[in-house]
Amino acid sequence: MNKTQLTGKVKEILKLTGKEYPEARTHLDFKSPFELLISTVLAAQCTDVRINMTMPPLYKKKYKSPQDVLKDGLTNFTKEIKSITFFNSKAKAVMAMCEQMIKEFKGKVPDTMEGLTSLSGVGRKSASVILGNCFGKKDVIIVDTHVKRVSERLGLTKSKEPEKIETELKEIVPPEEQFNYSLRIGEHGRQICDAKKPKCAECFLGDLCPSKKLFIDKVKK
Ligand code: SF4
Repeated sequence: MNKTQLTGKVKEILKLTGKEYPEARTHLDFKSPFELLISTVLAAQCTDVRINMTMPPLYKKKYKSPQDVLKDGLTNFTKEIKSITFFNSKAKAVMAMCEQMIKEFKGKVPDTMEGLTSLSGVGRKSASVILGNCFGKKDVIIVDTHVKRVSERLGLTKSKEPEKIETELKEIVPPEEQFNYSLRIGEHGRQICDAKKPKCAECFLGDLCPSKKLFIDKVKK
């Protein structure tokens, strides 16, 4: 498929997923850019459910700003997040990030890709989550595990590296729909296009998906 054909296919996918998942949203609970930033960093290789169980009560009780986290100190913060995977290294990253926010961004969460990715522990994926959810940026693609897998199965990218996938998708998804694409495809990955057992027989994107036949043939064997 050439670029024009892929762009047309993406438009159809956006239309169908928009009907199916009109309320698609991030699965992390947050009330401010600061909360979403911390939760996004802590969610790496952990579940959103675990982060939502652990962090919102802590934000309510004591962590409302980077200053609060630093004041509590590394030892206490580490203890508070010990139910989260890799809590030791993540606690250190969060402390460093809070210090940076105070020194370089007047204690605020930066609202640019450059500013966000300059923070300790924040990559392009996390930065895109913050920009889309908190600062109304529509031209961001969040290449998480679901977007990566489903986009590949749909034949929209062949790359394996997140940055290349992001670049390729940005060429075929209209800028004003890129954040929506990320949310809806993420939802589709959670609900239908499961990593191990995609429900191809009931998938409403089946007619657009070159992988459908492969999976259905596999199940028949
Ligand atoms: S047809 Fe199957 S592989 Fe393709 S998007 Fe749907 S569930 Fe995923």
